[in-house]
Amino acid sequence: MRPVWQRLLALAALTIVNLPALAAEVEGVRLWRAPDHTRLVFDLSGPAEHKLFTLSGPDRVVIDVEDTHLAATLDNLPLDGTPIERVRHGRHHKKDLRVVLDLKQAIKPRSFALRRHGDLPDRLVLDLYDKAESEEKTLQQVSRERDIVIAVDAGHGGEDPGASGPGGVREKDVVLAIARRVQKDIDHRRGFTAKLVRSGDYYIPLRGRVKKGREMRADLFVSIHADAFRRKDARGAGVYAVSSRGATSETARFLAQRENESDLIGGAGSLSLDDKDDTLAGVLLDLSMTATMNASLDVAASVLSQLRTVTHLHKNRVEQANFSVLRSPDVPSILVETGFITNPYEARRLRDPSFQRKLAQKLSEGIVAHFNKRPPAGTWLAANRSAAERRHIIARGDTLSGIAARYNVSVAALKQLNGMTSSAIRVGQTLTIPSPSG
Ligand SMILES: [Zn+2]
Repeated sequence: MRPVWQRLLALAALTIVNLPALAAEVEGVRLWRAPDHTRLVFDLSGPAEHKLFTLSGPDRVVIDVEDTHLAATLDNLPLDGTPIERVRHGRHHKKDLRVVLDLKQAIKPRSFALRRHGDLPDRLVLDLYDKAESEEKTLQQVSRERDIVIAVDAGHGGEDPGASGPGGVREKDVVLAIARRVQKDIDHRRGFTAKLVRSGDYYIPLRGRVKKGREMRADLFVSIHADAFRRKDARGAGVYAVSSRGATSETARFLAQRENESDLIGGAGSLSLDDKDDTLAGVLLDLSMTATMNASLDVAASVLSQLRTVTHLHKNRVEQANFSVLRSPDVPSILVETGFITNPYEARRLRDPSFQRKLAQKLSEGIVAHFNKRPPAGTWLAANRSAAERRHIIARGDTLSGIAARYNVSVAALKQLNGMTSSAIRVGQTLTIPSPSG
């Protein structure tokens, strides 16, 4: 037992350390513009309480951050194309930081704190939602036979860069470039419409992505990634579906865990709280999802067989794990890992436009081949398959094996019917397509 005076001294020291709460600092500020909202992110040196309110005439948003001072500049934010006219700051109650946003138009603000995660600091996130001029409704086509809709989701974005590889290559950029190519490739095909879930450098929470796919009434949701692995020599593409049980391999479990952390990095806020009509809330993956799951596994296999022709595969079969972004009760969903960005060889290929093009083309062909085999009832493809499928005009980039896969016929049958002695084809040439083998 220490003498009383020593214990008293220790107590005094504790009290002194605890008395002045450490003031927080704003160490950085970033702005991300999304199609429907603007996100401001404040990096903090530690957690801080904040209050947010709006004023009108003129419209302003005011944020008071308790016991915090600004150590970053607010002058260089890219305000073009946002509802923000100007950003000012000052002190409030002597100790608090007050940030005022002068607005060009009224918005709906929402704010939340993001706790420290990995290398990322505490953050204060402010989302300014545009007030929709008129609710944009997806106009159904005039014809009764609808297009097959593919939702193409580029993983990560904004605050969440995803994995990074040698030379500073970032997953969020590479996958957006590939997703854009896939979207274009599929959208150009008769009977198909493809839409991007994320169209720029901003973050969408995982549940928000699932929701967007359902709002598009997508026939398929494809999430595109290029992840990191602990070992730099890990390589190869992979195609994943959700699992109702465990993961099919350690890699699959590891990747799903990483992907599911996205919301902690990118910032999901209180999405679940204000989505009262979100039927996903209580949805568990159970037997009622068997049909969706089977369709997902089927598309995944079709995509995997196409990717095999342009890149090494990590595993020769479709893998499953509990990816949050694939948990849709009624939209078949797959996740494509285009390669490991931590592998120097694959990182170089993933940022190469000509490889991106080839990869996107094969990914699209895998998707289209699946729907050619099983067009959903009520679609243009279901009604016109037999007529449309009988002839194919060779386009730039077509290969005989690609065409064979797309129409689900063999190369041999294709050559035989068209009296070809070699696999050489030319742009503009018309091929007659044999009846599907299956
Ligand atoms: Zn990813």
